[in-house]
Amino acid sequence: MRLLLLSDIHANLEALEACLAAAPEYDFVANLGDVVGYGASPNEVVERARGLGKMFVRGNHDKAATGLIELSDFNPLAATSAVWTRDQLTAEHHQWLQSLPQGPLALEGFSQAQLVHGSPADEDLYVVSLGDALVPLLAETTPLTFFGHTHLQGGFFANGNSADGFRPEYRTVGKAESVSLQLKPATRYLINPGSVGQPRDGDWRAAFALFDSHAQVVHFHRTPYNLKAAQDRIFAANLPPRLATRLAAGR
Ligand code: ZN
Repeated sequence: MRLLLLSDIHANLEALEACLAAAPEYDFVANLGDVVGYGASPNEVVERARGLGKMFVRGNHDKAATGLIELSDFNPLAATSAVWTRDQLTAEHHQWLQSLPQGPLALEGFSQAQLVHGSPADEDLYVVSLGDALVPLLAETTPLTFFGHTHLQGGFFANGNSADGFRPEYRTVGKAESVSLQLKPATRYLINPGSVGQPRDGDWRAAFALFDSHAQVVHFHRTPYNLKAAQDRIFAANLPPRLATRLAAGR
């Protein structure tokens, strides 16, 4: 089966549409949280994401925008956008976001894989370094964990002899591209498809991944999208301009 992995869409409709247009054929869609927050199209993105399937885990921004957590832990940019998003969401979309399940979520039909937003141990924890990844990699019995939250495409692995991190390396900075990772037997993986709507790995292109469970290959993708349209919506909504300018830098 072929599973399309989307994470951290962050209410960026233009980036989501570009990913869906660029994605190869898939059977199911899994969503790793932060459907909303930062971007200026929360209702449109919720509508679109809901139409893609039922596999979701919630992100911290989904919780913040629906009152499930206090905003005191959020930086001012994140808090401002969470309040704005809360005001924008329709009652139906608010209720849907609020009811998203907490990870880890076992992937139905993929018995060897699970979905989380942050870390398998804590949905709000950031797995940035190999040090962050080692604890879950060594503790987890599920070989394959798909995670988001950091907005950094790539991941970590551990087997009997070694553990390391990896990042897909692309040839261009502006074209649609894909890099494949062949999964090895007897190895545990934490894999981040990257952020659809607000990449922070220095690459402005929208990120996603596709997992082919039969071939045991993860295909990482980057695709250009209509950046200006996404930025214009943020300016028009009177959200902090930094939320628009950072999209161009991928930071
Ligand atoms: Zn996020």
